[in-house]
Amino acid sequence: MSAPTTHRAGRVLTGTPGEELRDAAVVIDGTTIAWVGPVADLPAEHGAVVDHGDDATILPGLIDTHVHLAFDGSAKPVEVMLAADDLERYTIMLRSARELLSAGVTTARDLGAPGLLDVRVKQAINAGSARGPRLLVVNAPITVTGGHCYFLGGEAETVDGVIQAVRRARRDGADHIKIMSTGGNMTPGTLPAKAQFTPEEMQAIVDAAHHYGMRVAAHCHGTPGIRNAINAGVDSLEHYAFTQADGTNRPDAEVIAMTAQSGQYVCRTVCAALGTFLTYIDKTADEVFEPGLNRRLLDAGVKVVAGTDAGIDNAPHVEYVYGLAGMAAFGMTNDEVLHSATALAAESLGLEGVTGRLAAGLDADVIVVRGNPRADLEALRDVELVIARGEEYRPEFRSRRRWNDEVSQPQYVPA
Ligand SMILES: [Zn+2]
Repeated sequence: MSAPTTHRAGRVLTGTPGEELRDAAVVIDGTTIAWVGPVADLPAEHGAVVDHGDDATILPGLIDTHVHLAFDGSAKPVEVMLAADDLERYTIMLRSARELLSAGVTTARDLGAPGLLDVRVKQAINAGSARGPRLLVVNAPITVTGGHCYFLGGEAETVDGVIQAVRRARRDGADHIKIMSTGGNMTPGTLPAKAQFTPEEMQAIVDAAHHYGMRVAAHCHGTPGIRNAINAGVDSLEHYAFTQADGTNRPDAEVIAMTAQSGQYVCRTVCAALGTFLTYIDKTADEVFEPGLNRRLLDAGVKVVAGTDAGIDNAPHVEYVYGLAGMAAFGMTNDEVLHSATALAAESLGLEGVTGRLAAGLDADVIVVRGNPRADLEALRDVELVIARGEEYRPEFRSRRRWNDEVSQPQYVPA
């Protein structure tokens, strides 16, 4: 048993909303957090102290509940992936994992990858032969024939067919199940505003997954597909865009109330791809989005978690913080955004006893940033040290984009 290591900073955010310790420390013993508190109360068995300085903040490792490691975040990630063989895809995924870790993300859920490669990447990270966040994986999303992301290999339909798809995913190493409740923007010919599955198929998927204790995430853009997902009892609603046939979003008050009532988590996947998406449908942000929708959701009692759809068109994994800044731009306070990216996200993934907070007994998922992210989320761009399940990592990649009012034209700043 090696000696513990203590990390000290002027500020420690424990992950309990609004809780901030001054002149405080985190004691890490192997892969576990042994103690958190003010330096004045430091226990005798604390080992060497690494002082990160008075202007540093120590906080829980961040969580992205919705990524795609196999998409490289270039202008044409699907084309790149389809042209690649599995070895090339695996290489892309390993880089994506290190980009996330560089952004301070110590837990990520991959919501769709081809050929069981997500399981292989997860195994490599767990074995210590690759660096990356703790991964939860789903294999290929379950979709209808020719439906959204069919090219990932997850086509299934009829009640019997979708039940078999769930059992197959479990056999092949999936942690959770992803279903495509509507069409999507990345798959030409599918219809984002319309439901893909019948309510009976949706119910069969959720029942089969829950039978095995697997959570279900539903991709749902349009309102009918959101309703189907809520009624089937999925665990999280991804995108939740209320997309109409013309591409604009029209949030539905009744559906928002249903969501608050059901307690299902919502991940709006606000991300660096927003500008690209607007060019696809040739509309401005004002025409498409309700500016204060995140505020409205929180005020209604909906649990909103952070997830960025990292990897899709022009949304590299390293740009995680862009998504958090976007959540703030849609009306959340910095404390609410931090909660959605740590403890609440962990809860949504069933990991509340594992990560998302700094507390004795949890896994040592810890990041150190310069500045105070409670005052300015941009501080999260200056990640100095990442500790993922006790293993230290120095960021290799830097985010470059900053949120601005003209979301249709993301600004690029030098790395
Ligand atoms: Zn996605």
